[in-house]
Amino acid sequence: MHIVIVDSSRVILKVVAGMLEPRGHVVTPFTDSAEALAYVTDNPRVRALITSLEVRPLSGLELCWSARLLAEVSRPLSIIVMSSVRNARNLSEALDSGADDFIDKPPGAEELQARLRAAERLTSLQSELIRLAETDSLTGLLNRRAFLQRTNEAAERAGSFGRLSAILLDIDYFKRINDEYGHDIGDVAIKAVSSLIDEAGIAGRLGGEEFAVVLPGHSLTEAEGLANRLRLKAMDLRIRSPRGPVRLTCSFGVSEWGEGETVEGLLKRADIALYEAKTSGRNRVVSAMNDLVLARTG
Ligand code: GH3
Ligand code: MG
Ligand code: MG
Repeated sequence: MHIVIVDSSRVILKVVAGMLEPRGHVVTPFTDSAEALAYVTDNPRVRALITSLEVRPLSGLELCWSARLLAEVSRPLSIIVMSSVRNARNLSEALDSGADDFIDKPPGAEELQARLRAAERLTSLQSELIRLAETDSLTGLLNRRAFLQRTNEAAERAGSFGRLSAILLDIDYFKRINDEYGHDIGDVAIKAVSSLIDEAGIAGRLGGEEFAVVLPGHSLTEAEGLANRLRLKAMDLRIRSPRGPVRLTCSFGVSEWGEGETVEGLLKRADIALYEAKTSGRNRVVSAMNDLVLARTG
């Protein structure tokens, strides 16, 4: 487990690290609590934060509070307060500030290991719950909610001048596949299409047989190129069924993020382009520019 320890004394840091590192933990020590918080913020792999109460410039309780806010529900992080004074007030203040546990300073090696095993169990469970809540169970892609969250985060990172493009795709005449070959074969077809996009950018299943890929750092032309390659790959799919191989096609709508646009706007324009791809014949890629659907390929 990757653990951050915060204490004003380098000796204490060394003692605690000396108990953890031989057990295979990765320990990053800090004497400065603000630096520790910045490190935990930037490194999602950190699973435990052990802090003394008497640290600076943020007090131990402030650090607990900020780390807890940072983790919220979407980041597994166990926070343990370490203090040489264990009284009811210290304990309740620490727990109310977002700490999960409390240990003596310096901790006994055995107790520390046991507390960290408990922390590991809890954070593993938490990360599994997060994964389940974000994943579409049929395809393993992000579900709609998680896809929108990741896309919004990517848009935030891109800032005002960054590039971001979106592809929406939908299987053509999918109802016929269900009707002719059965729902189970339909499910296999959905999985096969999802496997074409699961490594491309931020990929999600928006519902039924409709998917989206968001490509941070990519222009409309690049997204169009990818959409066309996906279109050809979809045509090459052969879904095995008792009645012989099932073939399918997909339609695509592509858009590029415009200045001042929301993620909803970006996806809305891709959706309008997808609709255009459907009504103009299917198995094609249509690109959206601003509010107008301009280019057409395929
Ligand atoms: P279009 O070319 O216009 O997209 O036509 P379509 O038949 O693909 O689209 P439509 O939206 O009319 O039908 C989608 C069907 O997908 C309806 C629904 O029963 C089916 N569906 C939705 N979710 C699932 C699923 O998880 N598995 C299977 N097998 N079918 C699903
Ligand atoms: Mg469809
Ligand atoms: Mg659909």
